[in-house]
Amino acid sequence: MTDCLFCKIAAGTIPVKRLHEDEQVLAFPDINPQAPVHVLVIPKRHLASHAHATTEDAAMLGHLLSAAGEVAQAQGLENGYRLVINTGPDGGQTVDHLHVHLLGGRHLGWPPG
Ligand code: IMP
Repeated sequence: MTDCLFCKIAAGTIPVKRLHEDEQVLAFPDINPQAPVHVLVIPKRHLASHAHATTEDAAMLGHLLSAAGEVAQAQGLENGYRLVINTGPDGGQTVDHLHVHLLGGRHLGWPPG
């Protein structure tokens, strides 16, 4: 999608620090971090949200979570971390390209707001 911010980041049109990358996914720092470590992990192929995924996306979704775990390990989050997928207006999603938030480096409260 040409007008999608995260598609532009995946394509390299908008530069980011590429923390982890393979043929399917890309991880980069969130521009407005909510924790000492706040990384976004996205599929390179456009998918508007988790709610838009079908069974055909199952392998990609698994790979996305697996990559998030690799980034957590690389970031030294031995004490734990949180993965979040905001979905749709009620879920607080503001960028319409599926992304996993990886948050860590401090104690995270529960429940979220
Ligand atoms: P959402 O609210 O779950 O959709 O998360 C979108 C996230 O994208 C927010 O945490 C933003 O801070 C982050 N974000 C927006 N624009 C950029 C950018 O250009 N680079 C990195 N992160 C961004």
